[in-house]
Amino acid sequence: MSQSHIHSAPGIGEPHRAPRTADAYTEVMVPVYSPLDLLAVRAQGATVWDAAGKEYIDLSGGIAVNALGHCNPALIEALTAQAHRLWHISNTYKSDSTLRLAGALIRLTFAERVFFANSGAEANEAAFKLARRYGLQQSPRKYEIVSAQNSFHGRSLFTVSVGGQPKYSNGFGPAIEGIRHVPFNDLGALEHAVSENTCAVVLEPVQGESGVLPATREYLACARALCDRHNALLILDEVQTGVGRLGTLFAYEHFGVVPDVMTIAKAIGCGIPLSAMLTMARFAEHLGQGTHGTTFGGNSLACAVGEAALHAISQPELLYGVLERHDYLVSRLRQIGERYGVFDEVRGIGLLIGCVLAEPWHGKARDVAKGALTHGVMVLQAGQDVMRLAPSLNISYSEIDEGLARLEALAQELNHETVNC
Ligand SMILES: *Cc1c(COP(=O)(O)O)cnc(C)c1O
Repeated sequence: MSQSHIHSAPGIGEPHRAPRTADAYTEVMVPVYSPLDLLAVRAQGATVWDAAGKEYIDLSGGIAVNALGHCNPALIEALTAQAHRLWHISNTYKSDSTLRLAGALIRLTFAERVFFANSGAEANEAAFKLARRYGLQQSPRKYEIVSAQNSFHGRSLFTVSVGGQPKYSNGFGPAIEGIRHVPFNDLGALEHAVSENTCAVVLEPVQGESGVLPATREYLACARALCDRHNALLILDEVQTGVGRLGTLFAYEHFGVVPDVMTIAKAIGCGIPLSAMLTMARFAEHLGQGTHGTTFGGNSLACAVGEAALHAISQPELLYGVLERHDYLVSRLRQIGERYGVFDEVRGIGLLIGCVLAEPWHGKARDVAKGALTHGVMVLQAGQDVMRLAPSLNISYSEIDEGLARLEALAQELNHETVNC
């Protein structure tokens, strides 16, 4: 390559070369995503504006992340105050905001020890590595992890191997061995799969990505009993359900089943990358000095935001507000579903809501999300057949009403299209 070529390469910060439109996306990005046609430039609460000034009601919550809405004043205050004090010091040293967040998590949960990371996959990676060491310390064959079909635990090689969706683990060469997948909510299958060689059972209290499917209380209680019987760890992946999403601070409280290990991510940073694995001291000791680590995990800036987020979300009024919003949203969604025949079922807990699309729209959840956008409302899909809503926990009722009105307009349009063809 010639010198002149290097000199003529576009430099960072050259505005005439920088991608300015959504069309430039495919020219600069690895094509793993296929984003919908919204180039967001500004947001407040549960309202988002695009580059052309069009307004959208955000019922997607950044995939259950923006629990306190966009640009929350208390979070901006925590972020900027910490930004003037200390951003990052690494785990070579200690940081006050990291220790404060760990202390708060321990006060508010079953747990006694915390490991911080930056994403859900990393928190689960830590949990699975802990489980393997815990099991192997008892017997060389005790390394099996039992997980549910259709589950989602992240996109690292270990977490796609544990996750129950082959489409995410195929094509990357040999997967991690020693994983058993069982049908979700099937007590008999779980009992059959768990043995003395099981080091952990991992479950989502509500399967989020694959369709907003809650576990039954009996199922989680059965998993708890089987883990106790076989000396295995019960890992609850609360990456999506944790931190207020279900109207309790953590889903395990809703179900009344206490895990040995819990992972959280999405909402704890409210948009700043932050995750954690929480466990008991007697399990934590199996991840001894030097056995695991991360450069960014638990960094001062993220933990300061996490502390402010946890403080706000753990207030009883906020959590009660999640239950009220659930009742309101679900009853209105059921009305829309019945009036236009678009939903077979509206399910979910708290503000994790799934609208199961009726037969004419099976396999079309992405088209529905696209259609919603043209009506000015942001929704998620969960699998191919479910429209998923995961709005901010403090979304205003006027934003809910506006979002529902736009969804109703979409439902009316979908209904017309099928009647006419
Ligand atoms: C989103 C999610 C993950 C993965 O989190 P990342 O931050 O994307 O790595 C893991 N488990 C569950 C249940 C999730 O919803």
